[in-house]
Amino acid sequence: MAEADHQLKLVFLPFFSTSHIIPLVDIARIFAIFGVDVTIIATPANAAIFQKSIDRDSARGQPIRTHTLKFPFSEVDLPEGIETFNADTPRDMTYKIHRGLSLLKDQFEQLFQDYQADCIVTDMFFPWSVETAAKMNIPRLIYVGGSRFAHALGHAIEKYEPHAKVESDTDTFVIPGLPDEIRMTLLQVPDSLRTTNEFTYMMKAIKDSERKSFGSLFDSFSVLDGAYLEHYKKVMGTKSWGVGPVSAWANQGEDKAKRGRAKVEEEEGWLKWLNTKTEESVIYVSFGSMNRFPLSHLIEIAHGLESSGHNFLWVVPKKQKGDEGFEFLEEFEKRVKETNRGYVFKGWAPQLLILDHPAIGGVVTHCGWNTVMESVNAGLPMVTWPLFAEQFENEKLLVDVLKIGVAVGCKEWRNWDDLPEEAAVTREEIRKAVALLMGDGEEAKERRRKAKELSQEAKKAIEVGGSSYNSVKEIIEEIRSYKRGKVMDKEA
Ligand code: UDP
Repeated sequence: MAEADHQLKLVFLPFFSTSHIIPLVDIARIFAIFGVDVTIIATPANAAIFQKSIDRDSARGQPIRTHTLKFPFSEVDLPEGIETFNADTPRDMTYKIHRGLSLLKDQFEQLFQDYQADCIVTDMFFPWSVETAAKMNIPRLIYVGGSRFAHALGHAIEKYEPHAKVESDTDTFVIPGLPDEIRMTLLQVPDSLRTTNEFTYMMKAIKDSERKSFGSLFDSFSVLDGAYLEHYKKVMGTKSWGVGPVSAWANQGEDKAKRGRAKVEEEEGWLKWLNTKTEESVIYVSFGSMNRFPLSHLIEIAHGLESSGHNFLWVVPKKQKGDEGFEFLEEFEKRVKETNRGYVFKGWAPQLLILDHPAIGGVVTHCGWNTVMESVNAGLPMVTWPLFAEQFENEKLLVDVLKIGVAVGCKEWRNWDDLPEEAAVTREEIRKAVALLMGDGEEAKERRRKAKELSQEAKKAIEVGGSSYNSVKEIIEEIRSYKRGKVMDKEA
């Protein structure tokens, strides 16, 4: 057997935030299903987010493992265990995590060497890794968080600056050069595009590294945003593949219930509660891993959900020190328990399992891309409530292009750690959007029909011969031929 035909070795490096770890680890697990030897690098607290899944894959005989390395807590003056970006990360400590990450760079590079990687697959937030791959003469694949659609919009805004020509913050402008006519307002544009800040430079470095990479990976599939895949490839000048929905692909059967957890107890309250509800009668409400709303927002959400007349399951983060909203939530929880109208889930919810429950009929989401993909896969229409990152762009895809979303009416992009004290959306807006989504009107029925159709397409994409399945096969073949080219060069 020629050297290039030996089992391919891929090393994955996810970024240290929960919602970047989840999809990239799922992608790693998909490659292992295809027989590729996979190593994932993480620090212990980050590995804990997914290790149970890796243990199960490995017990099934898949060639996959995690390599953990210690986070440099003392060097950056952080308490042990604070090494992940999420809603529970103390805000003043986030920059120290960034510093710790940069201190680990040499160790990451050494591990790529030690594991004799044929290719590294690294998160977009590690732009330096494209140079490392070049030095090692191996391909680097970049995992880009978010949708191709959103990134295509971002590129077009950056290039044509249509937002610079509007007279007011709330005037709409058309984003030129896209497959569809998409309109936005200045207030909805991420601040790194509106102004020049630290993140602008970071995004520039990411994009430069993407252009030099072997190709990009997205959690998407061709029927969802295929027109934007072609557009994206042209704009970036690189190869790009959609390999999703990754959560559905990597987490089948028991993995769905157990993603990131040891087990889901049959007797868990939320499950018992959902089991009492009729089909498609409950709306699932979650704002992802980075959200902690001020009290004023919680009050509006609570009243909006209660007055919508529909059942709801609302996920809120665990209590934190000085958390003024928590008392209110405890009271609210008592009240809705009595009426049996809602369920307040505190902490980390088994989202994949909940979305698949027959009682769930819709989702209220901040348009985080993982949740969008998971809801699409489950065939659920969405109330869209974008907050930060590229979530306003994702809202356009759901509401204007795919027509499976109802916009709640959030008007202004604000960073996850800079939400306004005043609630940005009123209870009446929430009530109306939920009622529209969950109601019996013709538009609601059509939205549900489209969401179910997309779910079927999502399932086809990951079956043998489906678009995402073929993408993974093609990527493996391309890495193999890259390796073959190297071997031939050596032999010549
Ligand atoms: N998630 C979960 N349980 C929770 C909250 C979030 O399993 O209680 C998962 C969710 O399924 C998704 C990810 O965390 O995979 C959140 O990612 P998303 O892109 O939706 O939002 P972000 O966290 O980036 O804002």
